[in-house]
Amino acid sequence: MTEDQQLTYDAATRRDQGVRAAVDQGLVGPGAPVAGLLDVAGIRASAASLRAAFEAVTAPGTPVLHAFAVKATPLVPVLRLLREEGIGAEVASPGELALARAAGLTPARTVLDSPAKTPAELREALTLGIAVNADNPQELARIDALVASAPTASPLGIRVNAQIGAGSIGALSTATATSKFGVALRDEGARAWVVQAYLDRPWLTRLHTHTGSQGVPLDLMAQGVSAAYELAEEINRAAGRQQIDTVDIGGGLPVNFTSDEETPTYADYARLLAATVPGLLDGRYGLVTEFGRSLLAKHGTVLALVEYTKTSGGRPIAVTHAGVQSATRTVYAPESWPLRIAAYDAKGRPKSGPPVAQDVAGPACFAGDLLAENRELPLLEQGDYAAALDTGAYYFAQHYTYNSLPRPGVYGFTAHPGEPVTLATVRKPQTVEEIVAESGGGESDALLGL
Ligand SMILES: *Cc1c(COP(=O)(O)O)cnc(C)c1O
Repeated sequence: MTEDQQLTYDAATRRDQGVRAAVDQGLVGPGAPVAGLLDVAGIRASAASLRAAFEAVTAPGTPVLHAFAVKATPLVPVLRLLREEGIGAEVASPGELALARAAGLTPARTVLDSPAKTPAELREALTLGIAVNADNPQELARIDALVASAPTASPLGIRVNAQIGAGSIGALSTATATSKFGVALRDEGARAWVVQAYLDRPWLTRLHTHTGSQGVPLDLMAQGVSAAYELAEEINRAAGRQQIDTVDIGGGLPVNFTSDEETPTYADYARLLAATVPGLLDGRYGLVTEFGRSLLAKHGTVLALVEYTKTSGGRPIAVTHAGVQSATRTVYAPESWPLRIAAYDAKGRPKSGPPVAQDVAGPACFAGDLLAENRELPLLEQGDYAAALDTGAYYFAQHYTYNSLPRPGVYGFTAHPGEPVTLATVRKPQTVEEIVAESGGGESDALLGL
């Protein structure tokens, strides 16, 4: 086996062991028909490879903050685990900031980006000393007033959109000509405005860009970083000093959803950056990165009980408990977000058998609620489990409340071949009482007196 095959083998073996243990321990089963699982060893390995990839290409002593994009997996124990692995947090709402703080992330390890920050959010961030990237001139004007009113430890920057083009998924392409994010650099007068904004504000020391997410090819991401670097150089030349000391290059490394292989790797991307923008890595600039999906996706599994099986129009259908509530993007945009499905038997053992084309359906009451359509798998039977793989980012952690389906429990596991599996609760399953309370249960008479 090559080293890559060994890693691939390990991830699949660990997953099988985690599934078996979750079924054995009743974390998923008739009483809890769907659960999310997280492979802790896999998460640690991804964090370590991210750190190593940038250490390998930056000049010794270069400050690098890897800030995990909290939206990818907004779970406090995950943020805490990443913190232990040396990873900070990129937040984009008061809720995400609160999660990062609950996980013990310090302001110095936190970055606030969002296209719609309120005055109160900006004031809180500057009071705490959290880094802020201004999205637009109006936001910069608000920051001007705050900076004038009280000293702040926050590193401050502007987000720019290099308008270098889209990837294969429009909704996730942040660097198009008309993207809603940042200052559109190629628009008439915009570049000159950005340069002047820095010259007028000696406290603006960062520059931010995030060129895209899943579907954006690596060379396009590198072009986006290159455009930000060229702009930082232009501003520093105009200022006659190293005013911009840190470039925030965003996240967006795409994830392979077709096999257990982790490709492209952080090392691939870091090497491409070293070849494309060597000046950014020569020690004059600190770096911030904001990876989300690539840190967590491969390490999560949605495991769902097969409640019933039947046929329709001659096609077998497995009706499971995981659908649009846990895999929203896949259900609504199956062409852009196909997921691998693995079949397990009623004891949680990998299922074998000849491949049979079948639908793997969710529990929600609309026809399109399918995890996979016409997919070849060992025939699923009542009491088996269907597992949606690579769902550690932007899936079960981001519940969608269709049909008032409960948020499933999420469990972390460690599994090593030949050793017993240990599981820990990351998020408890939502109860029916909580659903009622969160759905106005305490205000049941509210409309009667109107
Ligand atoms: C979503 C987002 C990220 C993370 O993107 P991934 O594709 O999950 O790596 C990073 N930075 C910003 C500003 C984002 O909006």
